[in-house]
Amino acid sequence: MNTNEILARLRAKYPGENEYLQAVQEVLESVEDVYNQHPEFEKAKIVERMVEPDRIFTFRVTWVDDAGQVQTNTGYRVQFNSAIGPYKGGLRFHKAVTPSMLKFLGFEQTFKNALTTLPMGGAKGGSDFDPVGKSNDEIMRFCQAFMLELWQCIGPDQDIPAGDVGVGGREIGYLYGMYKKLARQYNTGVLTGKGGTWGGSILRPEATGFGALYFTQHLLEKAGKDIKDKKIALSGFGNVAWGAATKATELGAKVVAISGPDGVCHIPEGITKEMIDYMLVMRASNRNKVEDMAVKFPGKAFFTAGKKAWSIPVDIALPCAFQNELSEDDAKELVANGCWCCCEVSNMGCQPGAIHYFQDNGIYFAPGKAVNAGGVATSGLEMTQNAEHISWDAQEVDDKLHFIMKSIHEQCVKFGTRPDGTVDYVKGANIAGFMKVATAMLEQGTI
Ligand code: GLU
Repeated sequence: MNTNEILARLRAKYPGENEYLQAVQEVLESVEDVYNQHPEFEKAKIVERMVEPDRIFTFRVTWVDDAGQVQTNTGYRVQFNSAIGPYKGGLRFHKAVTPSMLKFLGFEQTFKNALTTLPMGGAKGGSDFDPVGKSNDEIMRFCQAFMLELWQCIGPDQDIPAGDVGVGGREIGYLYGMYKKLARQYNTGVLTGKGGTWGGSILRPEATGFGALYFTQHLLEKAGKDIKDKKIALSGFGNVAWGAATKATELGAKVVAISGPDGVCHIPEGITKEMIDYMLVMRASNRNKVEDMAVKFPGKAFFTAGKKAWSIPVDIALPCAFQNELSEDDAKELVANGCWCCCEVSNMGCQPGAIHYFQDNGIYFAPGKAVNAGGVATSGLEMTQNAEHISWDAQEVDDKLHFIMKSIHEQCVKFGTRPDGTVDYVKGANIAGFMKVATAMLEQGTI
């Protein structure tokens, strides 16, 4: 494989699609050696096929706001790769959504889903709809209008969307209600992240955050360290950050910083159960302001405008919000303040410069596609429950999630161990996911 040649071709073909090009580059650089040991991959042009999505749907979404004004957004579904299972991945509602962003996320999803050990292909979708400041009724009308188009593209054995940034249990409810009306079928398996009384997995809301902490525990265990009493900074206060804060606190760590687009909240004594519960209120308010935590808990949470979570001295950094949210300068500040571990929970949360800085300075680093795979893995478990018309209790789902995260960690170690015995989790995760998808593509012929 000539990585440089492939990248140059993609850069010329997709100018400006920086996140997608960055994601492709990271995977190609990781798998190059292994790929070259398999001439059959080269012959079948596996890489050239794998970097292109199978198809992208684009559609207009028109809805009416509370003031009676007609609003129009654009909706997308990128069905990236279905070599090992039906398309699977979340829906993102955020003002910055572009087809290119969803392409990069769909590409990443393909490898992440392969790591889960479950049969799921990769997809991503969403809209440039901005939920900030929207009322509950506006959210509902938008979800209904979005599903008017999306329902034609999805199905339990075809493509199974779920939540992502800006899409949680409430949005999945509205989306499912409209799907059911259009399809005239109670097809629970068509979406995951559903409510507990109508086919949802009881642990899905917590799963991404819980899984991330299970992975972090395995990484620390391998490094001969313990999470107890360690200080943690995390970004965001959505579903993922909430699950991560819950599990980190339960395991005895101290979450001393959470952040939002407006700034950071320093919580010197560590986040409490009441504060974790309040994160859900903050998310549901659609205000998108972390300052609300400091207003609600004066004397315990201290807000600084314009600062990131990475400015607070901690042992472990957990980016939980958005891609590229941790820059090389942030990495330097973290390390200068004593941070020695960063587990990326958001998809591609760290910029390449930050990853290199961590790796060059012996900081434990693991990528989002391994760390956050517990979310989609639990979606996979939800799909199994829906297909078999059964429901597992929280303990059973948690045990399975734990087992999956252990297995993802083992795959990273298997494919990422360096000659000196340390682990390159980026390389390990990419090779493990790649080998599974590439082998399936090869066996299914040139299509
Ligand atoms: N959006 C989540 C992710 O990035 C979950 C996807 C899913 O459950 O399908 O993996």
